[in-house]
Amino acid sequence: MPVSILERGTNENMNGLIKKYLPKDTNFSTITKWQLKFIEKRLNNRPRKCLGFKTPNKSPLLMLHFTIECKNKIFCIKEKYHMKKTDVVVLGGLSGITAGLSCRRHYPEKKVILIRKEGTILIPCGIPYIFGTVGGPENNVIPDGLLEKNGIELITDEAVDLDREKRIVTLKNQEPIQYEKLVFATGSLPLIPPIPGIDKKNVFPVKKEFDYLKEVLKKVDEAKDIVIIGGGFIGIEFADECRKNRNVNVTVVEMLDKCLQLALDDEYCDEARVKLEETGVKVLTDEKVVSLNGKDAVESVRLASGKEIKADLVILGIGCLPNSQLAEKTGMELGFRKGIKVDRLMRSYTDKNIFACGDCCTKESFFDGKPSGVMLASIATSEARIAGANLFSPVHHSCGVISVFATVINGRAFAVAGLTERTARENGNNVVIGEAAATDTHPGRMPDSTMLKVKLIFAKSTGILLGGAISGGKSTGEMVNVLSACILHRMTANDIVMFQMGTHPALTSSPIAYPIVNAACKAVLDIQGS
Ligand SMILES: Cc1cc2nc3c(=O)[nH]c(=O)nc-3n(C[C@H](O)[C@H](O)[C@H](O)COP(=O)(O)OP(=O)(O)OC[C@H]3O[C@@H](n4cnc5c(N)ncnc54)[C@H](O)[C@@H]3O)c2cc1C
Repeated sequence: MPVSILERGTNENMNGLIKKYLPKDTNFSTITKWQLKFIEKRLNNRPRKCLGFKTPNKSPLLMLHFTIECKNKIFCIKEKYHMKKTDVVVLGGLSGITAGLSCRRHYPEKKVILIRKEGTILIPCGIPYIFGTVGGPENNVIPDGLLEKNGIELITDEAVDLDREKRIVTLKNQEPIQYEKLVFATGSLPLIPPIPGIDKKNVFPVKKEFDYLKEVLKKVDEAKDIVIIGGGFIGIEFADECRKNRNVNVTVVEMLDKCLQLALDDEYCDEARVKLEETGVKVLTDEKVVSLNGKDAVESVRLASGKEIKADLVILGIGCLPNSQLAEKTGMELGFRKGIKVDRLMRSYTDKNIFACGDCCTKESFFDGKPSGVMLASIATSEARIAGANLFSPVHHSCGVISVFATVINGRAFAVAGLTERTARENGNNVVIGEAAATDTHPGRMPDSTMLKVKLIFAKSTGILLGGAISGGKSTGEMVNVLSACILHRMTANDIVMFQMGTHPALTSSPIAYPIVNAACKAVLDIQGS
């Protein structure tokens, strides 16, 4: 039946018109939830069919036009709408919180809104421990108290579009927001390899989502044969944790010669493998998965060597890619591995009002300025502090990525800062190695004493520290941070020899045997000109 425009609504007479004509049983369509709420409010909450809707103006005081059909008649309604405005919008989680806090610290007068998809966010590095040590996602949550305490408004929603010219971010369910500056901290998404059968039931990439991980935990508890694809630190931590308090077969399949090979030198990879195998985890290296087999759900994993491993659950731990789709959609320039391209101020190349930090943006190596694909919480939060501080005036510069990380396998910690010997040599460096070992208490008979092993990699020509690896007990985590500081400040073996370390019998190695210093003392003799 033909429809005709009956009357053009105005703010003054619309309520009256609507009450007069619109039946209760028609539904709204083609509008977003926040628009629906707005219209419902305007139309006294009576359901009707909405045919069209647009927001034509640039100004935050928008004139909304919407068209409503009723009893074959069309109403055009014009409505004034005051858009929500803020100084800063941050999109994201972990580094998003840090960027927001940094902004408020530097610019306390600025209004900051943090938008993120999830109500509850997890400590990403704690995710493997959900499956053993901490017992569930509810015990691995980043509290939101800091946001409230620092006057940052939190909106739980997904940013689905961005109008960079008008500086408006559109959300999936709520009203759009106009910003002065925007920070992308949208993180990364797990890599899903194109292996036949990858979409079978009970094959789980590592997502950082609360409800999803709760479901995976339930499945892990029911599983008998778990296969973990990828022997990097995430895969290894999952393997170690899945074995805890469970009678389950766990196999790690790694296509390189050794697990953790991209992160550690060979002798540390071998030590880590021994620790992992002690837990009962089976490790298959130099093996590539070619298919996941089974009916609906996975039942086995086939390897290129022809082996077939039983599997009722598969975890994919093979890496992540920057989550930059929204940036790409809005025409922003992407760089290495599709990260949002940023400069050393963490400002995007494309738009001076948009910054980015964390896994979603490009990074450069501290050592040679080449693009780096390393994604770590240490890097993400450092970049976030820089981005937040620079939003309205440059304060800090990123000096590039050195990569510092630690992991624990069956109670033994492994940590690296900067380059390994392998990567240093591959990059063409002529290197000198200094190694030392000592207990992490003195005397070593103190309770809970653990043997620490340290390896330092220096440039032969300059004596500058390029990297260091440590294995040991709990103190490894902070000792590797000492190495990180030394590398970032380009300290030499000579500088480290003169290091004045604080020591205590229960807390550290002996001052005579302090392994970082002793490793430097040994290396210094082989360094040119020292
Ligand atoms: C299992 C695991 C263990 C790890 N362990 C360590 C470790 O021990 N040490 C270490 O240094 N690093 C570790 N990492 C890496 C570290 O977790 C990441 O580098 C870090 O989380 C990156 O932080 P981010 O803020 O950039 O991104 P993320 O932590 O990925 O956060 C991005 C957030 O943005 C939200 N978001 C995305 N798109 C939108 C949108 N359109 N609208 C609204 N919100 C959106 C996401 O939902 C998410 O909450 C680990 C990673 C994993 C997966």
